Amino acid sequence: MDSFPPDSQISPSDSLTYWNTIPSTVSGMLGGYPGVSHIDLRSSLNFLHKINRQFPPFSSEVIRAADCGAGIGRVTQGFLRKVCTKVDIVEPVEKFAVEATIKLRGPHKINGDEKPWEGEIYVMGLESWIPESQSYDLIWNQWCLGHLTDSQLVTYFRRCSDGLRQPGGGWIVVKENISTNAEGKDIFDKQDSSVTRTDENWRKIFKEAGLVLLKTELQTGFPKHLLPVRFYALRPGKSEGILARVDCL
Ligand code: SAH
Repeated sequence: MDSFPPDSQISPSDSLTYWNTIPSTVSGMLGGYPGVSHIDLRSSLNFLHKINRQFPPFSSEVIRAADCGAGIGRVTQGFLRKVCTKVDIVEPVEKFAVEATIKLRGPHKINGDEKPWEGEIYVMGLESWIPESQSYDLIWNQWCLGHLTDSQLVTYFRRCSDGLRQPGGGWIVVKENISTNAEGKDIFDKQDSSVTRTDENWRKIFKEAGLVLLKTELQTGFPKHLLPVRFYALRPGKSEGILARVDCL
């Protein structure tokens, strides 16, 4: 079995074929559970506030974020654009990227001091995306990293570390489903050609990529039959001295 790890079965062309059959809607992005979007976005905003309060400095003035594996831009629309000045989108499926552009650039009700969306759209997989060096305050990765192999993830996270604006500041956030496999294994899903990883494997990958896990918590309030979803707040660097501050559930 070990000679045939789950992530070796990932096929980017199978993933893209699958996602191209999915409608460009919130329901499509959320596997038929559009009802979880509101609580998902609210919890993400809370999590970001929490980590910024607990582990300053986050950023000074300009807050530039990346929404990675963004789909139709649900996360940017409902959360990131409200707290960031500029949000870039990375998404390999063209029809989703087009929908994101329409949604974000189209007529938009501006609430209070909210501004029009500003950002770039990169139509590519994360395995090919090279974040501009020292540019981002927040790199948000949600429900898409299962399409990368473990070793692609390690190199991707290293590039993300270089993409963070301030040494010692900024965040790489991962929000993903967690495998509950009884034997503690990652699970390959043939349907969309992705891997659902165990918490243990996530932490191993972060370590290998030179990331320090500063805070992690479980998403609450989702329907009980769905897989657990976990937030990870990460920064590049050595873990000594910081570990004492790690606040893990
Ligand atoms: N993060 C968004 C979309 C989740 S759906 C949200 O929470 O609403 C999963 C997304 O991952 C789809 O848009 C799919 O096209 C994208 N995806 C598939 N392969 C990918 C890859 N190699 N790199 C980045 N994103 C990928």
